[in-house]
Amino acid sequence: MKKLKFYIRSFLLWELFQGLGVTGKYFFKRKMTLMYPRQKAPKSPRFRGLHALRRYPNGEERCIACKLCEAVCPALAITIESAPRADGTRRTTRYDIDLFKCIYCGFCEESCPVDSIVETNIAEFHFENRGEQIINKEKLLEIGDKYEKQIAKDRAADAPYR
Ligand code: SF4
Ligand code: SF4
Repeated sequence: MKKLKFYIRSFLLWELFQGLGVTGKYFFKRKMTLMYPRQKAPKSPRFRGLHALRRYPNGEERCIACKLCEAVCPALAITIESAPRADGTRRTTRYDIDLFKCIYCGFCEESCPVDSIVETNIAEFHFENRGEQIINKEKLLEIGDKYEKQIAKDRAADAPYR
């Protein structure tokens, strides 16, 4: 009896129609697939993407070389060297992040007492040559300067929950 049922189902292409039924069911439903990169999903203000170093509105760099971010980084991705400036304040002379080591945990950002190192909402970046994954202080400040508006907006949106 079981065998007969199997042959009848095979003969009537039952499984094929079952499959087409599933396709038909989803054909008119709202599409969940995005046509990336033309369409992009909205990002949270807490999105942890490419890093940046920020400045104060007067142009002074925020980082005070306390090295908390370097100490807290679980991937040992941050390397900092520092020295006192002529005005007596301490500043970094080297600030490197190895983005191949980084796990984008956000600990560096959370540990920073002056909101200097941040993770931007930039998710689309790539490297073409060996060594480019290590971004230095100049590059980090450049990213910070370029995207400061968006960085400040994201921080303001997240401020009530911090
Ligand atoms: S996001 Fe995490 S892993 Fe990456 S540099 Fe910051 S603390 Fe290190
Ligand atoms: S980025 Fe922030 S936590 Fe890291 S050394 Fe500078 S001030 Fe300290």
